[in-house]
Amino acid sequence: MAAPKDSNPSPTVVIIGAGLTGLLTAQALKKHGFQVFIYDSEPHLNFRPRDWTILLHWALPIFSSLLPSSILSQFDKAICNPHLNFDEWAETLPMYNGETGDMLFKSAVPGSRRITRRGLREVLSEGLDIVWGRKVTRLDTETEPEKVKVTLEGEEGVEEEEMWADYVLGTDGAGSKVREILFADQENGEEKAKVKRSGFMIGTCIVDYQDEEMVQKVLEKHPVFAMAMSRGAVGGFGVQYTNEIAPGNIQHTVFWSKIWKGCFSTTPDIPRKGPEAVRYLKQSWQGLSPDFQVVVDSTPEDDTHTKAFVDEMGTWIAQPFGNRDGRVTLAGDAGHPMLILRGQGFQHAVTDVHNYVQALLAIRDSGADRKEVFAAYDKDMVERGSKAALQALEEAELAMDATNVEKMLMVRKGHGRSV
Ligand SMILES: Cc1cc2nc3c(=O)[nH]c(=O)nc-3n(C[C@H](O)[C@H](O)[C@H](O)COP(=O)(O)OP(=O)(O)OC[C@H]3O[C@@H](n4cnc5c(N)ncnc54)[C@H](O)[C@@H]3O)c2cc1C
Repeated sequence: MAAPKDSNPSPTVVIIGAGLTGLLTAQALKKHGFQVFIYDSEPHLNFRPRDWTILLHWALPIFSSLLPSSILSQFDKAICNPHLNFDEWAETLPMYNGETGDMLFKSAVPGSRRITRRGLREVLSEGLDIVWGRKVTRLDTETEPEKVKVTLEGEEGVEEEEMWADYVLGTDGAGSKVREILFADQENGEEKAKVKRSGFMIGTCIVDYQDEEMVQKVLEKHPVFAMAMSRGAVGGFGVQYTNEIAPGNIQHTVFWSKIWKGCFSTTPDIPRKGPEAVRYLKQSWQGLSPDFQVVVDSTPEDDTHTKAFVDEMGTWIAQPFGNRDGRVTLAGDAGHPMLILRGQGFQHAVTDVHNYVQALLAIRDSGADRKEVFAAYDKDMVERGSKAALQALEEAELAMDATNVEKMLMVRKGHGRSV
């Protein structure tokens, strides 16, 4: 349909946050000819040392449809094990009883691929002009009725920057500043917008074992990723990176992670990274069946071979907010930070990006009403996000005790959509 006379043929979209959600949005909007500006508070792409793997399952077809072919063709670079023959078993997620070694159930994830966050960010940032080291501090929607003035702060010594946008999308993650700004006019808004303690911790060791036997122990459980439940904890064992050192000769870096109930406020002494974190995680995860235990116990306690991170996981039950007449909204973890159980966070982020692009296309190309379009976008995001976040919390509680296994959504509904 031809663009109506009064619609802006080339709206400017400012994206705050160059995580996976922001980068995917930027690529998708660029593909449709929007002017996109993307800012991130970190100084460069690989600034954050922590990496993790993400299973792209029900949202993978949507994800693929959003990207230009030049970027999609690079997708394999982000996959944890691109050389694998992806058969039915490889596209399954098994859950073991970590104490007996028996398989409790397996969840079919047909067509899925596990990627590393770092690898996918590298792929998605290709061709984008990202401005690093800029933190959003203010959004002014009063001065100009149809525009948003975005204020960005740089590091010390860098002058504050201001720019005008037609639309602003907050993809600035779980602790989103954009969300805080959008809630500021509500009673108790600052508190409402804050990401909440979930009561669950996660520890991860990314390990270069230098011992093929240990790698094989991980791969025997599953060639991509297997979960394991033990008393008071649930964890995972999988492939993080593969390196083809010669044709057919593949080296694996593997990882294991553990989720348990706790928080830093009651246990402030838990080490957050480095060899001390490895030691802590090893000592605190005992009582596993020999095949799992040996993988944990053999983890080298040095920074060269093991990258270890311990974090407290946040969550936030999405709630309605004023979107400044449809000019500012949220996507991804900024809109619905949730626990990682059942791997839904990025699936919903991809869905947000799809809906966001469709919303802007409807306004630009079909003259749809901005306020109506974004009221619908926000309503859907809040409904999906809040439901998925609540389900992830429930799933985490159940995952702490193998006798609950029949109640888990992973068993009853697999890895499908929450809504
Ligand atoms: C261990 C783990 C495993 C997971 N597994 C899965 C899975 O299997 N399946 C699944 O679907 N999901 C999974 N997830 C969730 C998934 O990783 C997230 O949903 C997704 O990465 C969110 O990306 P994002 O871009 O929205 O947020 P982020 O990755 O947090 O990116 C936000 C960006 O905004 C920037 N930023 C922050 N504040 C500002 C500011 N004020 N101004 C400018 N920039 C700012 C940050 O520097 C950052 O680059 C997992 C998460 C974890 C931690």
